[in-house]
Amino acid sequence: MATSYTCLSLRFLSVAAITLTIAILLPSCKTPEELAIDKRDQVFVAGGNDKKTKKPGTSGGTASYQSVDRGWNPSVSAPRGGTGNKLSYSRVSVSEPYVAMTFDDGPHPVNTPRLLDILKARNIKATFYVVGTNATSYPHILRRMIAEGHEIGNHTKTHAYLTKISAAAVRSEMGFTHRAIVQATGVPPKTMRPPYGATNSGLRTRIKQEFGYPSIMWAVDPQDWKRPGSQVVANRIVSATTKGAIILAHDIHAPTITAMPNALDRLLAKGYKFVTVTQLIALGEGGAE
Ligand SMILES: [Zn+2]
Repeated sequence: MATSYTCLSLRFLSVAAITLTIAILLPSCKTPEELAIDKRDQVFVAGGNDKKTKKPGTSGGTASYQSVDRGWNPSVSAPRGGTGNKLSYSRVSVSEPYVAMTFDDGPHPVNTPRLLDILKARNIKATFYVVGTNATSYPHILRRMIAEGHEIGNHTKTHAYLTKISAAAVRSEMGFTHRAIVQATGVPPKTMRPPYGATNSGLRTRIKQEFGYPSIMWAVDPQDWKRPGSQVVANRIVSATTKGAIILAHDIHAPTITAMPNALDRLLAKGYKFVTVTQLIALGEGGAE
């Protein structure tokens, strides 16, 4: 009996020890890189999400916030809705430093409204490539986008890999989101962006013929979906942007939104003027059709 009691006690003790070990290990499951990223993002949030109060080298944080006064984007009276004569655009040849900021995969119930506030504070008009299932969940956010002068494009119903599905399935994916946007806002989308950038010439031709959409790619990709930290996202956008660029970002990721005030203000300070995608096409050499 004594032996079995000892055995039971030992068993209990080892279970308790394992549980304790797991409890101790759990909070440090993240790699050092992930923990560092979390810390950087917190520094950015603490620095004021919209008005920058952090200066480089202050308060021991790892983020070196380049301080720029909040800019104000000039209103550009270029026509909207033109889709040009090309099947696809990643940038547009323009004489002035116009650029188009695009945000994919939303709307997100928290991050997208936060982004809309940031854009509104700077008079920046952007283009949102929405996923159909999100569009039907948050139609009021789509209405806010249109009311505040933004443009909405089609990013399929389920974020589908369009090169891997049938023509009928492509039609269904695109048709769903087209109808969802019209139903929410009354404004039909004029452009689309293929999820993952996955497209080919046959697909681009068919989408243009069936929906009238050019396929909108990008010239600047900060890889923000990999969550490299807000400072990295902002720096990548600012360093890679040139005249006529279409810039890609994702409004479903909180660190991307946190990166925006800094990225946008630095671009405004460099003289860039933000327009929507169809405005950029219209401003292109030769203009829209
Ligand atoms: Zn996407």
